[in-house]
Amino acid sequence: MEESAIKAGFATMKDGNAYDPLYYSAICRAKADWLIGINATRLFSTLYNKTLNVGRVQTPTLAMLAERQGKISGFVKEKYHRVRLDMEVGTITAQSETITDPQDAANIQAACHTRQAACASITKEQKAVSPPKLFDLTALQRDSNRMFGYTAQQTLDAAQKLYEAKLITYPRTDSRFITSDMAAGIPALVTTAAALMGAGADIPVITGQIVNDKKVSDHHAIIHTTEVAKADLSKLPDTERNILYLTAARLVCAVGDKHIYEAITAVFDCGGYSFTAKGKTTIAEGWKATERHFTTVPNLKHSGADGDTEDSGTLPPIAEGQTFDNAAATVTEHYTQPPKSYTEDTLLSAMENAGAADTTDEAERRGLGTPATRAAVIEKLVTGGFIIRKGRQLIPTPDGENLIKILPNPLKSPELTANWENALTLIAKGEADPDGFMRDIEDMARALVAGNAAPAEEYKALFGTPKEAIGLCPRCGGNVLESKKNFHCENRDCQFVMWKADRFFTSRKKELTKTVAAELLKNGRAKIKGLYSEKKDKTYDAVILLADTGGKYVNYRFDIPAQQPKA
Ligand SMILES: [Zn+2]
Repeated sequence: MEESAIKAGFATMKDGNAYDPLYYSAICRAKADWLIGINATRLFSTLYNKTLNVGRVQTPTLAMLAERQGKISGFVKEKYHRVRLDMEVGTITAQSETITDPQDAANIQAACHTRQAACASITKEQKAVSPPKLFDLTALQRDSNRMFGYTAQQTLDAAQKLYEAKLITYPRTDSRFITSDMAAGIPALVTTAAALMGAGADIPVITGQIVNDKKVSDHHAIIHTTEVAKADLSKLPDTERNILYLTAARLVCAVGDKHIYEAITAVFDCGGYSFTAKGKTTIAEGWKATERHFTTVPNLKHSGADGDTEDSGTLPPIAEGQTFDNAAATVTEHYTQPPKSYTEDTLLSAMENAGAADTTDEAERRGLGTPATRAAVIEKLVTGGFIIRKGRQLIPTPDGENLIKILPNPLKSPELTANWENALTLIAKGEADPDGFMRDIEDMARALVAGNAAPAEEYKALFGTPKEAIGLCPRCGGNVLESKKNFHCENRDCQFVMWKADRFFTSRKKELTKTVAAELLKNGRAKIKGLYSEKKDKTYDAVILLADTGGKYVNYRFDIPAQQPKA
């Protein structure tokens, strides 16, 4: 931030009260997240006997992953064919439409092979690819995942370190522009970045296309700082250096010229069938030259996974009506492809765009989570055991898929978030009542608990086997089940509980074991060895009785043989 901008800010200070609605909106969001999260997590964990974390952002995110996984596992691949036509072998290759029946493909091949082909039409279209925008955090995380395989969290951590070292600007931003007061400093930053990459000095700097005051709110896009020119970057860890280079290269690309090319589509006739060839001729490299240069910077651990995926090559000059003798036709086999698993790159994009159709244009936030929280949401799903990383892919675990099966729709769909954001936007503008919003949220939490009083019969056993019964409850006859700290009645209304660390046992340096608890339930008595007596400092064996009186705590006592009346 420039000094002038700070001074201008101080000169036009506003009354703090003007921002109270922003506070109400933020506190409502935090409270609502907590209220729904803690109630739903406890509710479903209790119903299914497993810790099942539920949250407004993480659950719809998991649902997207589970839905994609369902499509992948249900995918049935289908074979199809094409006929490939080579003219002047090696220079022009044209393809037929896709063909399902192999016999049809064979017929076309036979009709065309060694025959003459003629160019029926040529279409040329000039296209321009605009330079990419500067990075906000999500865009930086996506690119570094594609280029280096970093997780969203790794990128955020590295960017935070670079920010603390004053080498890049504040990373937790969702703006992809800078403000007009920063424009004057850009050419020097571009020079620094170009030097880093060993690129030539005469690169264009069109600053206007990265400036937009209206699209900068709390923070501007992530760019490197003038400190980079002075810093010894060789001392940086690989991850940080890669992220810094990526950020610097992005600035050079973003202020560059458009990339312009000509797309050529040539249609050929042969044996009465049509074949299409596509080609591309570059007219002006523009910003793509910088991008390509960046990928060849030495010392960058570039994984190379992010190739240019467009497969159209160049075509030699062809004229309409031109003929080619002795074309070679071959049948090729292909298979339809299942959808791809999400990577952090594609998941971040999906989170950013989720529910966009449901939010109003004015909603302050869109999508699931914020740039600053998305990495943590992904990590939470990993540590909770709901998704795993397999290479770059994020794949839901069986528990993750099952959790989505048992949850009611409102918790799984990004719609809930969209509705909240719309309401919170109104609160932030002072046009809606925060208390009313919270009452709705409380009602929703209550309805959730009331509407899910028991586990769904079909899904009861999804999360491991039900607990084993160790005996019958002396109060109601229900099963007594073991849990971590106690043996309790399966009926929640019945409050029969035998604590493992009941004072009766711990004061005698013992714990209530499953064997003893089962015996007490079966016979009302159990023999216990090695009880400790503090008074006598020695151990002894005794028979213990279950003396339940129906109160809050279960009582135990020693089975003392009836005293002989004293003579
Ligand atoms: Zn009971």
